[in-house]
Amino acid sequence: MAKVLDGASIAAAIKADVAEGVKRLGERGVRPGLVVVQVGHVPASEIYVRNKVQASEELGLYSARITPPETVTTEELMDLIAALNAREDVDGILVQLPLPKQVDAKVLLDAIDPAKDVDGFHPVNAGLLQAGRPALAPCTPAGVIEILKRSGIPIAGANAVVVGRSDIVGKPAAMLLLHENATVTICHSKTRDLGAVTREADILVAAIGRPGFITPEMVKPGATVIDVGINRITSREEFDRFFKGNEKREAAFEKRGAVIVGDVHPAAFEVSGAYTPVPGGVGLLTIAMLMSNTVRAAKMRRGL
Ligand code: NDP
Repeated sequence: MAKVLDGASIAAAIKADVAEGVKRLGERGVRPGLVVVQVGHVPASEIYVRNKVQASEELGLYSARITPPETVTTEELMDLIAALNAREDVDGILVQLPLPKQVDAKVLLDAIDPAKDVDGFHPVNAGLLQAGRPALAPCTPAGVIEILKRSGIPIAGANAVVVGRSDIVGKPAAMLLLHENATVTICHSKTRDLGAVTREADILVAAIGRPGFITPEMVKPGATVIDVGINRITSREEFDRFFKGNEKREAAFEKRGAVIVGDVHPAAFEVSGAYTPVPGGVGLLTIAMLMSNTVRAAKMRRGL
């Protein structure tokens, strides 16, 4: 029977470490601060941002939400970022994506002081990660590594296959696994005979954005499967493809008209030795790692 790698308990352990870090900084008169910039009203973003601010407060960080209007210009946001870069009480700056069309997201994200880039998306931080000197690593991939480490899954020497090469998940996940001494293969939409590659994986990371894409025959029996995907399913046909006969999911689907499925087909988890469920796996780590990055940024900026 495959072991479930429970994101909630791992996230709780990380948050306890963060709270301890906040306490120790408090003894030196420092309260780490996180500012989230949320432009306009994207309902999904509002939930994410609320969760981020709430988690910060629970752990004793200073946190604030700034909400420029939907019509804001790139220049106005650049001025805001410059002001936040200069603020001594702000250790982490996070610009919630997506941004409205008129805003040049790339220019804006590049304007964040790399020392305060708690999302780890700035090219300077991407470069440091590549160079094996991770300062602030992107939260979701950092969460993947925490799950593996805190679950006692050996990474060094393992064959790790990452499906997906985005700048925010696939690539940094592959880099972090490489720095943990895994033998890493990165796959993408042009990979030939993907199943043959994924079947070699001792650790398989799926970050594709396609519901249930990884099927049982693509998984080596006993492998560790980390499912990063978050996909919303609303059609009955798709629901049946993944969850037919699953009473708990059926009830959720009936109630909300939608359920979340990862990039791994639930049947593929049965083949694995251990896996992260969706929901309840990697997703829960992302906010914990954001808190962790904020404390790290606060320490690094003060040379602690
Ligand atoms: P992107 O769309 O940016 O990247 C998807 C990657 O998957 C691309 O590299 C793409 O290849 C690859 N891909 C697409 N189709 C195939 C295919 N048929 N075969 C092989 N590879 C394929 O997505 P993200 O990296 O941003 O996100 C990935 C998933 O993770 C999504 O489900 C997202 O919702 C989820 N996510 C979850 C987070 C969390 O907190 N748990 C945080 C961020 C994302 P190519 O480059 O060739 O196009």
